[in-house]
Amino acid sequence: MLTTEKLESQYIVNTYNRRPGVNLAVDRGEGSFVWDEQGRRYLDLVGGLAVNVIGHCHPAVVRAVQDQVARLIHTSNLYYTAPQARLARILVEHSAADRVFYGNSGAEANEAAIKLARKYGRSRGENRYKIITAHRSFHGRTLATVTATAQTKYHHGFEPLVEGFAYAGFNDLDSFAALVDRETAAIMIEPVQGEGGVYVAGESFMRGLRALCDREGLLLIFDEVQCGLGRTGWLWGYERYGVEPDILTVAKGLGGGLPIGVMLARENVAAAFKPGDHASTFGGNPVACNAACAVLQVLLEAGFLEGVRTKGLYWEEELRRLARCFPDLVGEVRGLGLISALELRRPVAAAVQQRCQEAGVLVNAIGESVLRFLPPLVITAAEMELGLKVLEGVLEEEAAG
Ligand code: PLP
Repeated sequence: MLTTEKLESQYIVNTYNRRPGVNLAVDRGEGSFVWDEQGRRYLDLVGGLAVNVIGHCHPAVVRAVQDQVARLIHTSNLYYTAPQARLARILVEHSAADRVFYGNSGAEANEAAIKLARKYGRSRGENRYKIITAHRSFHGRTLATVTATAQTKYHHGFEPLVEGFAYAGFNDLDSFAALVDRETAAIMIEPVQGEGGVYVAGESFMRGLRALCDREGLLLIFDEVQCGLGRTGWLWGYERYGVEPDILTVAKGLGGGLPIGVMLARENVAAAFKPGDHASTFGGNPVACNAACAVLQVLLEAGFLEGVRTKGLYWEEELRRLARCFPDLVGEVRGLGLISALELRRPVAAAVQQRCQEAGVLVNAIGESVLRFLPPLVITAAEMELGLKVLEGVLEEEAAG
């Protein structure tokens, strides 16, 4: 019989760096765990790359999907649907934004943000279209969002890229200010850079960006596709800084695993989009929106986000302890809430990931030397202990050489 691995490697375009014999065929999930096709259980500290915020197959999400699937799976955006309207209201009532636009992914949410920033930049008799983003950023894989992504490794082979993007240093306000000119429309930033290796924006940098945008008439766009939805211990990462964006993008965790991406904007900015300016066939799909309402209900339960902050502090303390235990192997510890990373001093991240997997714990290697952790926010203290025990054992082995 052909295995899932064999079928996938034969028929699917080879864009994911999957290694034969190493990859899991994930069969089911529940809470903080997934099971492979052989029935082996793994603690999931990757969390669907920040998608499974309330864990796998949360009963509230399963119920919301089942109810909606039996009622209406899709209709055109020519018509209204209640789940779209309900979700928009929750998002607006719990953010700095006044209106939402629905897409299906993070890249689409950012694409909408880029288009809106350009439309707004040209709506007042000016020719503002340029967007400044940060080095090490990641904003998606469409041509515009891959150009917004300032890591050149994602650009190779796709040139010519989209015009009108410039890159400045993350946490380096002066370098942003130096790039602003009369054609600049916006600054786009992740409050916590995820794919770049988990780097947290500083408070004075974020406040400085807001002041710079206000002074120069620019829009401030926060890409919270990875760090939003409670991951930092606040519903939105920006809340921690006391700084609000003009446009916010959200995706990953919102649909409880179903594809959805949302661009949120302030009223005066959103008004730059007129009927016909932007659209998505599946955007605002009622099943995804119903699931998203259920996810937000859980995140907004009293004490939930406080719990994430407490777990985040414990996790960070433990990572720092590991860094002290293995100083020749573990360098910097970075993160906020339940998005965190360990910088290894040797290019062994893939090997550590592999050994952790063999021991029943999924962690994520970024590049050669960064280990990233994006556990479900519902992870329990006992589950964190289990993950740390395995990680410590693997680091110990690796440190011993
Ligand atoms: N923005 C950020 C900050 C991300 O981390 C990602 C994906 O990792 C994206 C955008 C792109 O999202 P998607 O893969 O859903 O298009």
